[in-house]
Amino acid sequence: MNKPAQLDRQFVWHPFTQMRDWLKRQPVVIVAGKGAVLRDVHRREYLDANSSIWTNLHGHNHPKINTAIQRQLNKVAHTSALGLANEPASLLAEKLVRAANPHSTFRIPQLNKVLFSDDGSTALEVALKLAYEFTRRTRPASHRQSEPRLLSLDGAYHGDTVGAVSLGHIDLFHKSYSGLLFKTDKVMSPYCYRCPFNRAKLERTDAREYRKCNWECVSLVEKKFASQKQKGNPYAAFVFEPLIQGAAGMIPQPNGWLHRVAKIARGHGALLIADEVMTGFGRTGVAALVKARIGVATGPRFHKRGYDSPLFACHHEGVQPDFLCLAKGLTGGYLPMAATLTTQKVFDAFLGEYGEFKTFFHGHSYTANQLGAAAALASLEILQGEESIRARHDLEKNLHDELQTLWSLPNVGDIRQAGLMAGIELVRDWRTREPFDLRERAGIRVCEVMARRGVLTRPVGNVIVLMPPYCTTPFRARKMVRAVFDSIREVFGKL
Ligand code: PMP
Repeated sequence: MNKPAQLDRQFVWHPFTQMRDWLKRQPVVIVAGKGAVLRDVHRREYLDANSSIWTNLHGHNHPKINTAIQRQLNKVAHTSALGLANEPASLLAEKLVRAANPHSTFRIPQLNKVLFSDDGSTALEVALKLAYEFTRRTRPASHRQSEPRLLSLDGAYHGDTVGAVSLGHIDLFHKSYSGLLFKTDKVMSPYCYRCPFNRAKLERTDAREYRKCNWECVSLVEKKFASQKQKGNPYAAFVFEPLIQGAAGMIPQPNGWLHRVAKIARGHGALLIADEVMTGFGRTGVAALVKARIGVATGPRFHKRGYDSPLFACHHEGVQPDFLCLAKGLTGGYLPMAATLTTQKVFDAFLGEYGEFKTFFHGHSYTANQLGAAAALASLEILQGEESIRARHDLEKNLHDELQTLWSLPNVGDIRQAGLMAGIELVRDWRTREPFDLRERAGIRVCEVMARRGVLTRPVGNVIVLMPPYCTTPFRARKMVRAVFDSIREVFGKL
């Protein structure tokens, strides 16, 4: 066994990994990457089919991001944001504010303050603490009997720190820690493929397209808000992943859901917290027009080349949150950095004389790190260039076309694509939709075979995730999907 593998087995505890299983195998030890390809110690090459757990945008070893980091490294790597400003973080804050308010005349509220942190979990911690304290400070006296309460979605996952876990509703990950957590409520989120309200007969296409329902999931959201209001303590905030829930099982929302529920939440005075840790920075695609998604025109939407290219999922449905939580792709997948954007109104609630102690007492040692900010600036520039917009447009279409080949497999129950992400749900038989017991490790087994075939990804339960870097060529997109096809056949038997 090679030296890094030996040391790994001896000393490293891997996240979200049953270490007993891990220790039975030789780990893949990555030593290099270029574009969508990773190389291990044995010089074997793999396609990075989940963008290194949803972080990488433009491919590995990108010359522009490398150069930006190196340039910054020659100046200074890190100084504290507690008491000091720095150039790349200031520039980045301005760029993020611009990207988050693309049509400032009709998008209210304006997101114009940026609080940097380290990762997705901390981006959410910041948002939830700000929302909680803002509500406490500004709500009418009649609502002050109880603590501000938050609502999130069934199946929600917002990170692994204790606040983020409190917002989560995945028993497998979260239940053991219930004694540590504060109470939040959950409401049904759309899952058209398995929705009890969907009366349509099963078809071999994305269930969102042929669903027959009366938006019962939206009515439940309305009911939830109304009943909480009746208790005299309306929800302070509504937390959601826009357009698609990732760790819940790559579950995309039907067109119009987000627009509708955001309106309900606003109508009840709740703040909107959008977790775009996975969906941000173009992942949800370039071609979706607000008009096509929700049936109403909400403003000028066209990029100069004719594509609509919102960087954030919320904007696909004309929704502007009060908190926008960003991480993963912020630095193009290079360095751990996160940002929580919010409004002037929230910011102002924390202003005061020093002795009033209204300060937001929160921050991290590496907040606004220069190397991360330099990488993020370079990544944003690439992202907003025409070449990247065109590549994303093409990859979305290629992925869609390739994925259709999987419908012929009886163990593929559903294929769900949202922009440049896809989930393939494995079932015992597509006609019955019967799920595999998690103990059967269906998703893990398929991904293990895919790795042998040179394609790396991780499942969420029984769902195979494809989320390639934006530089993935049509040939490589085909190779990824082909690996899914062949691996499913290898694991579950031939057709
Ligand atoms: N929110 C979402 C939607 C996520 O997918 C994740 C991570 N997968 C997080 C938050 C937490 O991010 P991190 O792992 O960087 O803390």
